Amino acid sequence: MTARQGEIEDDRRVRAIKQSRFWEQRRKVHLLTGLPQCGCCGGGYAAVDRDYLASSAARKLGACTQRRAFRRGDLMALILVLLRDRVMQPAAVASFISAYGS
Ligand SMILES: [Zn+2]
Repeated sequence: MTARQGEIEDDRRVRAIKQSRFWEQRRKVHLLTGLPQCGCCGGGYAAVDRDYLASSAARKLGACTQRRAFRRGDLMALILVLLRDRVMQPAAVASFISAYGS
């Protein structure tokens, strides 16, 4: 370690940041992280509080008029219903197998 690196390591602000262990407090990655897109502006959705998603442009920049947030769990439930009712149908599964099956 150089003298300069030692000075940086000894700085009380650097020590305080390291003590916070901020890298362990990152938000969890969810199944839908990065996937939902806002129907109004086409931008991404971001977590709002622990259980909600909302248009990032609306919440952070005020650049979108879609101000409603919705529960992440409600979106997951809707996706599961759509998968069950529309995707996992015999005709769709047969089509998938004929296209991608061995
Ligand atoms: Zn938007």
